[in-house]
Amino acid sequence: MIKNFFRVLSNESAKELEPESDLGCKPDASARRLEILDDFEQAGINWLWATDAQGNLIYLSEKAAKNLHRPLDELLGIPLVSLFKNDPDNPDEKSDRPFKFHLSKRSKINDLVVHRIPGTLGERDRPTWWMLSGHPKYDDEGVFQGYRGNAKDVSLEYQRKLEDSRMAEFDSLTGLANRHRMDNRLNGLLGAFKAANRSCAIMMLDLDRFKQVNDTMGHPAGDELLKQVAKRLRSIIGESGEIGRLGGDEFQIILPDLDDRGKLGEIADKIVKIISQPYPIDEKIATIGTSIGIAIAPYDGIEKDGLVRSSDLALYAAKNSGRGQFRFFSAELKNDEEERRILVEDLRDALVNDQVELHYQPVVRTDDHMVVGFEALMRWVHPEWGEVSPAVFIPIAEELNLINQLGEWALRRACQDALLWPKSVWVAVNVSAVQFANSGFPEIVMNALATSGLDPKRLELELTESVFMGDSDTIDTTFKILKQLGVRLALDDFGTGYSSLSYLRSAPFDKIKVDKSFVDSCTQKDKNSAKIIAAIIGLSEALGMETTVEGVEAFDQFGLVCSQGARYIQGWIYSKALKPQEIEDKLGSGEFRIEPDGPELYRPDRRTVFRRIGAIHEDHRYEVVMRDLSQSGAMFEGLLGVPLGTKLVLDLGEGQLVVSTVTRSDESTVATEFETPLVSDGAGGLCTRHRVSPYDLCAAGMPLAALPPGNYPLTVDASSLSGKPEFMQVAIGGF
Ligand code: C2E
Ligand code: CA
Ligand code: CA
Repeated sequence: MIKNFFRVLSNESAKELEPESDLGCKPDASARRLEILDDFEQAGINWLWATDAQGNLIYLSEKAAKNLHRPLDELLGIPLVSLFKNDPDNPDEKSDRPFKFHLSKRSKINDLVVHRIPGTLGERDRPTWWMLSGHPKYDDEGVFQGYRGNAKDVSLEYQRKLEDSRMAEFDSLTGLANRHRMDNRLNGLLGAFKAANRSCAIMMLDLDRFKQVNDTMGHPAGDELLKQVAKRLRSIIGESGEIGRLGGDEFQIILPDLDDRGKLGEIADKIVKIISQPYPIDEKIATIGTSIGIAIAPYDGIEKDGLVRSSDLALYAAKNSGRGQFRFFSAELKNDEEERRILVEDLRDALVNDQVELHYQPVVRTDDHMVVGFEALMRWVHPEWGEVSPAVFIPIAEELNLINQLGEWALRRACQDALLWPKSVWVAVNVSAVQFANSGFPEIVMNALATSGLDPKRLELELTESVFMGDSDTIDTTFKILKQLGVRLALDDFGTGYSSLSYLRSAPFDKIKVDKSFVDSCTQKDKNSAKIIAAIIGLSEALGMETTVEGVEAFDQFGLVCSQGARYIQGWIYSKALKPQEIEDKLGSGEFRIEPDGPELYRPDRRTVFRRIGAIHEDHRYEVVMRDLSQSGAMFEGLLGVPLGTKLVLDLGEGQLVVSTVTRSDESTVATEFETPLVSDGAGGLCTRHRVSPYDLCAAGMPLAALPPGNYPLTVDASSLSGKPEFMQVAIGGF
C-alpha cells in the first residue's frame, strides 16, 4: 500500500515526513524512506492522502478509510471536498477561507481542521473532525498533479475545545449567552451597523424579588427559577434577538434593526407580564417581577459602553419608579442619577444634622369627621433640595443599612409626640421589612414605649406584606412578642402585593389599610376597584379587623368609598400630613374635627408637560411652551394668528420630531393633532416612535463623536431655519 503512495509522493514532500538526517546520501535511501513511511502509517499517528489534478482522492491510508467507516475502494476517486468542509463553529477559524478555496487556489494547507460533511456517509455517521496538511505537487514541466498530504483525526481534542469555547461564551445554568459573548456580539454589531446606518436596541433586565426566592426557598430553587425565566424569554424573543445572562439575575437582550419605541414598548410589556406569572418550583410557587431599561443605538449611544450605560440608567429609573415597569433611556435620567448620588452621600448625615422630621397625617372617622389617629410620615429637609419624599429616601436608607437607625428614631419620636395628644388618639409608625427582619426589633419597640411612657394600645405599627418574605420562625416570634406588648398591627398597602389573604389568617393584624391605587381607579373606568374595596372592608369586618381607606382626594371618591362601607379615611380630602406644631395648635380645644374639603371630581395627576419646545413652520423655528400633551396631539402657547390646518413640525427634544396640523388657535394658544400618535415611554409619559438619527445630523455636518448619547443639541439647527417668520411669537411668563 505504502508503495503506492511513495509513487505519488515527491522527494520534497517525503522530506517533510522524515527526519532530515536520515535522508539523501545513502544508496538505499528510497527503500529506507519507504520503510519509515510504512512504519509511520502503520503507527496510525498520521494518515497519508493524495489527490489527482481534479481533486479526486487517489490515495488514502487504510486506517483513514476505517476512520470514515468506509471501504477504501469506495473512497478512491471521490472528490476530497465532497467529504469535508470547514467547521462553521470552529472557534479558531471563523475568518479562515473555505477548504474548497484552498484546493482551488492550489495553496499549501497547514493544519486545517475540517468537519466531515454530515450525511455523506449515511448510517455510520458520527461527528468527525480531521486536521489536514498538504501541498500541491507539480511535475518537471510545472503541470499541477494534485495534492499530497497527511491527516489525523482530532475529533476528541476538537470537541473538548468546542466545549471550552462554549463554556467561555455561554452560561452553563440557562444556556443563554454570557456577558463575554454579549459584549462581543454588541461590539461587532454596533461596529458593522455604524457603517450601514442601522439601529440596534438593547434591553437590560433585572428580576425583582429574586433575592427573596433565593433566601427563602434556597439556591437550587433560585437556579430553577432562572432556567424557567430563560425559557420564557426565549419564547418571547425567538429568533429576533440574542438573549444573555450577564450574571446573577441580570439579563440582556440585543435586538438588531429595531428602533420603533412603540414596538419595543410592546415587547417589554409582554416580557414584564410573562415574567411575573407564577413559577412552579418543587411543588411550591415563586412569584417575581422584572424591570427593564431600554436603549437604542445610535440615538442613546453609538459605541457599546455608551449604549450599555444608557440602558443601565433606564433600568435604574424603571426600578426606582416602582418595579414591574420598562423605561426608555432619556437624557434627563442622567440628572436623576446625579441627584441620587448626592442624596446617597448626604443621607448618612441627615439624622445627625437634624434634617429628618416626622409629619402626621390624620385618620378620620367618616360618621362624625373626628380624628381618631395619625400616621407618622417621615420628611427629610435637605439643605439644598428642600423636602425629599420618603418614597425616594427610604429605599436608599434600606440599601445603605441606615433604615434601622432611622426607624428607631421615628418610633421614639412618634411615641413622644403622641403624648401631647388626647388619650383617645393613636399614632401609627411605618416599619420597613428590613427593620422587621431584625431580631432586635421588638426590643426597640419596647424601649420606645418605656422611655416615653406611651400606652402600647396607642401605638400602631404599619407593616407591608414584604415582611413575610423573611425567615418564618423569626417572623412568628416577632409577631408574638409585639402582640404581648399590646401594640396594634396594621397591614399597609393592602392589595398591591402578592398573595394577601393567607397573611391575614396567619398574622394577628388589627387593621387593613386599603391602598390608594384602588381609590384612584374606583371612580375611573375600572369599576372593579369599588367592588374590591367593598370586599376588603367586608372581609376585614368578618375577621374582626378595622379598615382604613387611603388616598381619598375628591368628593366623588369620598361618596363612593363611604357607600362601600368605609368608616375610616386617611386622605387629602381631610388633610395632608401636618407638622407637630400645627397639630398642637388645632388640638387646643381637646377634640379634633376636620370637615372634608377638596375637588368635586378626582382627576388623575396630569404630568407636568410645561416645557419649551420648538415649532417649525416652513423655514422658521419658533420657541413655544407646551401646556398639554396627549397621544394624539399637543397644546402650546406662544404663537399668534396661526390659521387652522397649518402644518407644523413640533420638536419635542432629544431627536423627537412630530408632524402635526393645527386644529384650534385661540389668541396665543394653539392646539395641534399629530400625524402619527405618540407611544408610552413606560413611565406614564409619552414619546415618539422614531427619532431623528444622529447619523442624519452627522450627514448634515455635525460631528458624530461630539453628540452626547441621547442628548442632541436642538434637533434642527435654528440657524438653518432663519427664514422670515410668518406668525408672531409672544413671550410666555415664567419661561
Ligand atoms: P404609605 O405608608 O402608603 O403612606 C401614605 C402615603 O400616601 C404618604 O406619602 C401620604 O402623604 C400619601 N397620601 C396620603 N393621602 C393621600 C392622598 O389623598 N393623595 C395622595 N396623592 N397621596 C396621599 P409619603 O409621606 O410620601 O410617604 C410615602 C411612603 O414612604 C409611605 O407610604 C411609606 O411607605 C414610606 N414612609 C414614610 N415614612 C416612613 C417611615 O417613617 N418609615 C418607613 N419605613 N417608611 C416610611
Ligand atoms: Ca403607611
Ligand atoms: Ca399605605
